[in-house]
Amino acid sequence: MDIAVNTSQSKYHVNKKGYYGDFGGAYIPEMLYPNVEELKEQYMQIISDPAFQQEFEQLLKDYVGRPSPLYFAKRLSEKYKAKIYLKREDLNHTGAHKVNNTIGQILLAKRLGKKRIIAETGAGQHGVATATVCALMGLECVVYMGSVDIQRQAPNVARMRMLGATVVPATSGSKTLKDATNEAIRDWINNPVDTHYIIGSVVGPHPYPDMVARFQSVISEEIRQQLVEKTGKPDPDYVIACVGGGSNAAGAFFHFTDAEKVKLVAVEAAGQGVNSGFSAATSQLGRPGIIHASKTLLMQTDDGQIVEPHSISAGLDYPGVGPMHANLYTTGRALFLNATDDESLAAGYELSLLEGIIPALESAHALAKLKDLSLKPEDVVVVCLSGRGDKDLETYIKHLK
Ligand SMILES: *Cc1c(COP(=O)(O)O)cnc(C)c1O
Repeated sequence: MDIAVNTSQSKYHVNKKGYYGDFGGAYIPEMLYPNVEELKEQYMQIISDPAFQQEFEQLLKDYVGRPSPLYFAKRLSEKYKAKIYLKREDLNHTGAHKVNNTIGQILLAKRLGKKRIIAETGAGQHGVATATVCALMGLECVVYMGSVDIQRQAPNVARMRMLGATVVPATSGSKTLKDATNEAIRDWINNPVDTHYIIGSVVGPHPYPDMVARFQSVISEEIRQQLVEKTGKPDPDYVIACVGGGSNAAGAFFHFTDAEKVKLVAVEAAGQGVNSGFSAATSQLGRPGIIHASKTLLMQTDDGQIVEPHSISAGLDYPGVGPMHANLYTTGRALFLNATDDESLAAGYELSLLEGIIPALESAHALAKLKDLSLKPEDVVVVCLSGRGDKDLETYIKHLK
């Protein structure tokens, strides 16, 4: 297991101070300092312990169902005239890549002696992945969720409750994800000793972006091994992933960032169009700012108010992007594209008909850009299929032509 691999020589991984180039850091209120400091001091030591890695690996295998297949998509390949492989995170327990991170963090929380877990959730996917591992370990779980989201996402609220979690409505502001995050941070300040805060993407103060990226890096570790079996070489020509906060992309890119000939393609949600005012294309539209205690690219007004993002897929509906991706964008290491709601729906229908796989709408954003890359027949292309589309059926059906 390579989660503790030394990345200190890399321009694209976190440095000792918790930065990726100009981005990252830990812009936290003083009252959170002890919590974040404890994590920062201990996380590398804990995840480097062979006993930790053994337990992590075992659960990923027997509980999550890893390694997830790397599937050669023959009909999709014929259509786009390249060798296209799908990394099947949709086949994981709970239906997406998020569980890789929550398994890692719950094991870490146990080793820190924590008895209680808190999380924030928008659409409920991260809340469900957190409630799942809390049930697995018998730890108390409190999930903060905007009251508007609680109404919109009833099935996931029911899942969390069935898994034993307490879902607490956030009723301030726009009553959505960022308000839920504020409530979770407030809880953590009030419960510094016994509580661990499981953040769901490569966002938040250092060390979260690096820690979450390491737990998700199992994706690129497996891709390398599986490509050797299938093509004789560990490196593909392209890796494509959608980006909300950026965790599935961070995992899919992790072991390739320094192999500069591997083209990394990050796809953000353009919503109704990048310049429509209803978009979540954070890198293109964002400017440096601070969100969730991290310096990154962020959609904001001239006086620094956060702009509400829009995307048809709830998982990409985030006004910022993780600091690792802000750095991949500004250094030009990754190509940042964006896909509109309509393009993504079309790509979701297309994969369903060509391969018999209904993708999550988030993942469909990555698929939607196959048509825009100038692929050559010999190119090996890996698309991270971050999740399955069951949760999006209502949206797909509404737009079915
Ligand atoms: C949450 C989610 C995403 C977006 O989160 P990232 O941290 O950007 O990966 C993408 N795909 C699926 C299926 C999700 O559930």
